[in-house]
Amino acid sequence: MSNPIEDISRVKSTELFEQAKNYFPGGVNSPVRAFKSVYGSPLFIERGDKAHVWDADGNEFIDFCCSWGPLILGHNNDQVREAVIKQLPNGLSFGAPTQLENKLADLILSNNRFIEKIRFVSSGTEAVMSAIRLARGVTKRDKIIKFEGCYHGHSDSLLVKAGSGLVTFGETSSAGVPKAFADETIVIALDDETALTKAFEDFQGQVAAVIIEGVPANNGLLLQDKSYIQFLRKITKENGTLLIFDEVITGFRLGFEGAANYYDVQPDIITYGKIIGGGMPVGAYGASNEIMSNISPDGAVYQAGTLSGNPIAMAAGIAALTQLAQPGFYEKQEEKTDAFVTEIRNFIAENNFEVKIFSISSIFWFAFTELDAIKKADDIIPASMENYKIMHRELLNRGIYFGPSGYEVGFISAAHTKEDLTKAIASIKEALVEVF
Ligand code: PLP
Repeated sequence: MSNPIEDISRVKSTELFEQAKNYFPGGVNSPVRAFKSVYGSPLFIERGDKAHVWDADGNEFIDFCCSWGPLILGHNNDQVREAVIKQLPNGLSFGAPTQLENKLADLILSNNRFIEKIRFVSSGTEAVMSAIRLARGVTKRDKIIKFEGCYHGHSDSLLVKAGSGLVTFGETSSAGVPKAFADETIVIALDDETALTKAFEDFQGQVAAVIIEGVPANNGLLLQDKSYIQFLRKITKENGTLLIFDEVITGFRLGFEGAANYYDVQPDIITYGKIIGGGMPVGAYGASNEIMSNISPDGAVYQAGTLSGNPIAMAAGIAALTQLAQPGFYEKQEEKTDAFVTEIRNFIAENNFEVKIFSISSIFWFAFTELDAIKKADDIIPASMENYKIMHRELLNRGIYFGPSGYEVGFISAAHTKEDLTKAIASIKEALVEVF
């Protein structure tokens, strides 16, 4: 039964957005925040606690965006907050080593069989950019292969989309990316062994690295078959090409050992971001001792950072990951997500709605499709995003905050209570009724 309700008040948020337009291009400091793909203008968030956020107009929401992934423990987590407060009086940054870096590295490396050494940076973009340089430095080759529908941050080599044809040099997907850079990036479709084989035939001996998201989750949730990822490992090895898992989303989300463990595949380099900093700006890349020995100061591949290993960010990361390392943490998250997804899935089936909810670990995604699986970017119908727009608005009006784009996934945190999820499920059901 249809139950449309009034739009939330956005008086203060609208005023702040108008002001922000005087300062920032498009009024924002990262494009997706501008709400271009959904109704209305951005909500200015004032504060968050556990699974809830409050905007400048006093609207309260259950948050499923979770800062785009980092907040697996929810907002204002007690231990993370206390760790940051404890560290603050000691100073914000020294540009010198601190024991906090050792502590976070030890926590990560002693719980991860897939990397032996790690380097901290300040964002996922930086981590991936550095991993690509490392792969090129090690292999002494220039080309990289990436997949259509995977996002790896905004460094030049990776802002490249597929051209037409099975295997193509990429075309820049942003103005300002030199064509010469795009010419070094080969873009192919996911879930296509033939395209991958052809790329290696066409560019024999030239490919430094293949990079793939642990689980592609930036352009919908494109769940890949284990066998495909294992094929990827095999063909890269045969060609002397390094395999990079970009685990900026999946690292510490699919467990401490992320997608590498999920697929049972040993990548050559792994990149991290988001959760690793407990909500503070931290990225990292890691690999074997041998590969990492190529990094400066001892190796020939240069990489540095004024704020890398920032003590406050390290303290937040340690406090967050310590909680994730507790036995049963991930099992609980997965159970919670499974129950949430199953109830929605049953409702969709009962009503015969043309929408699917895909999920893995505590990540979920609504796809307005009749397909039972979406593994490639091309299988997403852009027009179906109109349905997401309606759903997003209906959810906001019911106090549920989803990311402002239908291509973005949702996250369930440890702070989402049974009550939060029950309320969200009821609201999602009502919103879907409004869509269909
Ligand atoms: N890689 C992946 C898989 C991501 O999801 C993102 C960000 O969403 C990045 C890299 C870039 O990370 P950051 O935004 O911290 O630069």
